[in-house]
Amino acid sequence: MKMRLLAKSVGMTAAFSVALCAAQVHAKVTDKDIVNDAKTVEDVVSNGLGPQGQRYSPLKQVNTKNVKSLSPIWSFSFGGEKQRGQESQPLVKDGVMYVTASYSRIFAVDVKTGEELWQYDARLPDGIMPCCDVINRGAALYDDLVIFGTLDAKLVALDAKTGKPRWRKTVGDYQAGYSLTAAPLIAKGKVITGVSGGEFGIVGKVEARDAKTGELVWSRPTVEGHMGYLNGKENGITGGEAGKTWPGDMWKTGGAATWLGGTYDPDVDLLFFGTGNPAPWNSHLRPGDNLYSASRLAIDPDTGKIVWHFQTTPHDGWDFDGVNELVSFDYKEKGKTIKAAATADRNGFFYVLDRTNGDFIRGMPFVKKLNWAKGLDEKGRPLYDEAFRPGNPADAKDGAKGKTVFSIPSFLGGKNWMPMAYSQDTGLFYVPSNEWGMDIWNEPVNYKKGAAYLGSGFTIKPVFDDHIGSLKAINPVTGKVEWEYKNTAPLWGGVLATAGNLVFMGNPEGYLMAMNAKTGEVLYKFNTGTGIVSSPITWEQDGEQYVTIVAGWGGAIPLWGGEVAKLVKDFNQGGSVWTFKLPKS
Ligand code: CA
Ligand code: CA
Repeated sequence: MKMRLLAKSVGMTAAFSVALCAAQVHAKVTDKDIVNDAKTVEDVVSNGLGPQGQRYSPLKQVNTKNVKSLSPIWSFSFGGEKQRGQESQPLVKDGVMYVTASYSRIFAVDVKTGEELWQYDARLPDGIMPCCDVINRGAALYDDLVIFGTLDAKLVALDAKTGKPRWRKTVGDYQAGYSLTAAPLIAKGKVITGVSGGEFGIVGKVEARDAKTGELVWSRPTVEGHMGYLNGKENGITGGEAGKTWPGDMWKTGGAATWLGGTYDPDVDLLFFGTGNPAPWNSHLRPGDNLYSASRLAIDPDTGKIVWHFQTTPHDGWDFDGVNELVSFDYKEKGKTIKAAATADRNGFFYVLDRTNGDFIRGMPFVKKLNWAKGLDEKGRPLYDEAFRPGNPADAKDGAKGKTVFSIPSFLGGKNWMPMAYSQDTGLFYVPSNEWGMDIWNEPVNYKKGAAYLGSGFTIKPVFDDHIGSLKAINPVTGKVEWEYKNTAPLWGGVLATAGNLVFMGNPEGYLMAMNAKTGEVLYKFNTGTGIVSSPITWEQDGEQYVTIVAGWGGAIPLWGGEVAKLVKDFNQGGSVWTFKLPKS
């Protein structure tokens, strides 16, 4: 009895000192920390390693000379029977890693040992409708909170120390097809989110909430005709009026989902969000440009006002869902600094825009054999080749199925969700892309709440025999592809560039790879035992550079990939976090 009491009291003392220690080192995350995230190497407090999303680290302890010695120091399993696709980018603050996993789970892990500190599982209702696997792309940190979105379209804020919920808000009706998979964005004390659900005829929107309380500040629908709100009051109809670029009532179920989240540029004080496909996919049912679908929107973070827009695929007929991230960068031309931003669209074109006003600077295809457009005009609008738009079912004898076309790229995109990186040293964008096309046809369809609203059928097929995936180093000033790394399987994970002249990326074959940023030469590879479809991070801990990536095969390809899905059907699922560093010399 005495022994047990003693053990208990020793245990309590230990627990007390650990808690005290954590309280001392655990600083709150501020707006300044987030704005400066790209420069502060000791932490990663935002998705994209900085709200501009450059995914560039100034760290160079790990470099082209020594990366071959990079070694795993721990692996943490998400456990359970719930594997499926793991697309999360972890965050790191004060020696703690916050990482989300499939089925709306989140874990806090000790960065030095991989030991779990806490785990939170969102209790998901039956009947959630994620289109493209039960994935999650990451969390946000603010104050003493960890905030993430769940598959039933809720936003949950947890106490960063304990994992206990502090607030929870509903962003959309999951029974109508809304869900959340993107990492929330923090800007000026607000947590900013988009919504998923473009395949169900939802209405896309961007919303800002007080990050500390979850209270709604503003809401901005992304389909022309819907009312916006600021502090509980009406704040103007998106686009000014209903139905200008839509026929009849089609704008009421117009899609334009903001499912990938966004970036924030403090320099011009604008949020940049992409919008997805207009609904339904069958474009013959909705003549017009269908604003603001398949666009980039610049939004005032204080009011939710749309400051400018750039539509990449007006009257989209291929699910060229232009949500892709818009990443700020500056370059010099004739001695003048150009405030630019770049985006690699699902439609296969790479665009450089003036980020102050959305003006088109230049654009070029970044996938081979692109056929649905002959090019871009001087404003960046595609010059359609109507021979590659799927036909109208109304023109068919039985009215059941329009003409099938083989268009390149496929609807899964020249580039899908997987984020590119920009190196401040090489001036290159590293774009994870895929070379594939699709047979696509249209069918009649009517809107029904909670049902798929496509009006299209499709089969994805490779374009080349030996590869689908293609990491391309693109010079945004000349438009030239400086180098290309061809990958057998389609790429589905993000990229990280570092001052060590390295580019890190995972592939579905399971490898974390490091390449020479200037040449593309593969200098390191390590197999994690399951496919990688997530984005790597790096940071410095007690003077040593760490690299982390989440592993776990899944995502949209096995579900939607047609003939491509057959090629990858033997890849094994998983769910783990791998952390690496150089051995101590
Ligand atoms: Ca940082
Ligand atoms: Ca879509």
